[in-house]
Amino acid sequence: MPNAWSRPVFRFAPSPNGPLHLGHALSALINERQASELGGRLLLRIEDIDRTRCRPEFETALQADLDWLGIPYERPVRRQSEHLSDYEEAFATLRSLGLVYPAFLSRGEIKAHVAAHEAQGRVWPRDPDGAPLYPGPEREWSRAEQEAALATGRQHAWRLDMGKAVRAAGALLFWAESGEGPEGETGEILAAPEAWGDVILSRPDAPSSYHLSVVVDDALQGVTHVTRGRDLFHATSVHRLLQRLLDLPVPLYHHHRLLLDPEGRKLSKSKGDAGLTAWRLSGRSADELRRFLLV
Ligand code: GLU
Repeated sequence: MPNAWSRPVFRFAPSPNGPLHLGHALSALINERQASELGGRLLLRIEDIDRTRCRPEFETALQADLDWLGIPYERPVRRQSEHLSDYEEAFATLRSLGLVYPAFLSRGEIKAHVAAHEAQGRVWPRDPDGAPLYPGPEREWSRAEQEAALATGRQHAWRLDMGKAVRAAGALLFWAESGEGPEGETGEILAAPEAWGDVILSRPDAPSSYHLSVVVDDALQGVTHVTRGRDLFHATSVHRLLQRLLDLPVPLYHHHRLLLDPEGRKLSKSKGDAGLTAWRLSGRSADELRRFLLV
């Protein structure tokens, strides 16, 4: 029997920005199954860093859903909004390495910049989620220029200088089980964080980004196995990069299949897709749902 220190640690990490859908239930169940097969622990982490979208009532509802489903996660749960200083510390490390810069362009300005470029028949690069890469005029600014712009008090985000970060980190790998990647990638995968451009690390309405907080938390919670949907396959490249820059341990990654709607799109909270609460209220049991999802 493995002792407490060698037991694998899994986590389910939903954001309370809407009701859980069947895709989340699948993810929680796969985590539970893998943890139980390996004699591991299962943690629940509430990723509520984005204060504009997360609401406490969604957290209450998601815990009720998980309890109903019989997912045996450990308590207390970690709530990201209660650990901002951990992310600030990681951010300060990246800043001291000279890998971040303040970015002042608003969403509208980015859009206009990209549109002007594309109006000339040129293609503007987009990230794996389809968002245009940040143009990054500030990337070339001197320290004094940055300080002067910051002193004006203008709203800004902090971004990772991806080019510099990739050069500092060198080549990075992660492992993909059979056909895990969106293009059926398998085996040793060369991380490609540069596909995301200068990712945001913090912005006025969210003190830490998803990417930064997730790697900090996985390390602080001793997570050994990150099992999550294939929609996050490309994000793993950014996480591998941040782990190297921050000198954090690297968990094993597994990207599981996604549940798709009848049109072949991934389920989403915002589109009011197949809710877990709706399943519950229709009188169908948790066991029926387990059998339905874990085919
Ligand atoms: N909070 C993320 C979500 O709800 C998942 C993060 C992760 O598993 O790494 O999509």
